[in-house]
Amino acid sequence: MDQAAGASQHPASYWAATAVGDRDRPELDGDLSVDVAVIGGGFTGLSAAYHLQELGLKAAVLEQHRVGWGASGRNAGMLIPGFKYGFAELAQRWGLEGARALLRLKLESADLVEQIITRHNIACHWRRCGSLAAAWKPSHMEELREAQRFNAQQLGYETWIVEKDDLATELDSPVYHGGKVDPHACGFHPLNYALGLARAVEERGGLIFHGSPVRGLQRAGDDWVLQTPRGRVRARHVVVGTNGHTPPVVPRLHRSIMPVGNNVIVTEPLDEELARRLIPNDRMVYDTKRLLYYFRLTPDRRMLFGGRGVLSGREGPPSFRVLQRAMTRIFPDLAGARIEYAWGGYTGFTLDFLPHIGRTRDGIWFALGYCGSGAALSTMMGRLLALDIAGRERSRYPLEELDLKPIPLYGARGLVLRAATLYFKWRDYVD
Ligand SMILES: Cc1cc2nc3c(=O)[nH]c(=O)nc-3n(C[C@H](O)[C@H](O)[C@H](O)COP(=O)(O)OP(=O)(O)OC[C@H]3O[C@@H](n4cnc5c(N)ncnc54)[C@H](O)[C@@H]3O)c2cc1C
Repeated sequence: MDQAAGASQHPASYWAATAVGDRDRPELDGDLSVDVAVIGGGFTGLSAAYHLQELGLKAAVLEQHRVGWGASGRNAGMLIPGFKYGFAELAQRWGLEGARALLRLKLESADLVEQIITRHNIACHWRRCGSLAAAWKPSHMEELREAQRFNAQQLGYETWIVEKDDLATELDSPVYHGGKVDPHACGFHPLNYALGLARAVEERGGLIFHGSPVRGLQRAGDDWVLQTPRGRVRARHVVVGTNGHTPPVVPRLHRSIMPVGNNVIVTEPLDEELARRLIPNDRMVYDTKRLLYYFRLTPDRRMLFGGRGVLSGREGPPSFRVLQRAMTRIFPDLAGARIEYAWGGYTGFTLDFLPHIGRTRDGIWFALGYCGSGAALSTMMGRLLALDIAGRERSRYPLEELDLKPIPLYGARGLVLRAATLYFKWRDYVD
């Protein structure tokens, strides 16, 4: 067997440069039979395999490159308890009980990640550090206040408002108009979590193959047969955990997910006093801009800054320069800071901007469409899939009733994304 199958991690990623335990794994070679074949070695797929093993089902993860190669190893590591919609909007759709259940889902997702980290001793800089939502425009402060009131009064969920005059206690930036602190948010080193989770899968007897893209998927009686370049897996169940990388081999899922690019830059290590002044409480920060910026300090006090390149997501110097300009506008003190890492990745968006979990008409299990905020939820979704496959009882969540709809004009998605980028640019700067 090839001991070093699959592409390496992104060469310019800070997380890859500071990864621990990124071991080679073999490519699938020959025939294999398991209970469940999992496509994708990100948080969703690894968590599904981990929990399937816990429930006594044999799982094999097929990853086209290597564990954590997708968004799971490239994200900002910010675990924020929210969705694209505020909880008041979710309550309008699903009632207060529905909104409460969705909040619980998010909070329990972070708890689950923490339990796995603790149980398996995963060194990934896990912190319950809280987050700050920073108001990009004065009018956004009213929206933050409303959200804070709704969450406290209707959901019993305590967050607090920071007025512009006090913002320096949370953020040293001339750009923002105040913010909202959520003390429940967490942070971690995402790639080290993915690598630790993979190790935990193997400790539980699960199999992981690198360099094993699934190219064919067919029914064989009650089973499925998955074809990779040099091997075949026969399995009773198939889990798809490919999010923004969902391949055409699962056509219905492929057409229902819009891959949206996101870029990240990381500075050289900052002087300790400067880092402490810029983000004094070490929060995970994101702003209320429509195409938002997000930023945080890394464990060695660099500024990690992410957000809009262009929606079509092509990473590269032009996108990174846009980010660097934005970063120095937000933090003028960083004008001279050298950028030492810069990379991009793909998030997966659905038509309704909500995550989806379930089973296709022909019986393939899936969880995807985290719309840029799946760092914690994906681990929970993997667990929920495992419970369903094992036929166990579990809580149900409102979003599970949603139909995963194909994206219209999928073939023209490049054009649609470019048009959306222009629209967002115009809205952000003109209104
Ligand atoms: C730059 C960036 C920043 C982000 N920041 C945050 C953040 O701070 N907080 C947050 O909550 N979320 C964030 N996200 C989103 C978050 O990373 C994702 O929601 C989450 O990682 C999704 O995990 P996943 O396992 O479902 O998918 P992924 O991690 O993308 O994994 C999918 C895997 O499937 C594999 N695959 C695809 N096709 C095949 C095939 N045919 N055969 C085998 N394998 C295949 C891919 O190689 C890939 O490894 C960010 C995303 C990006 C890109």
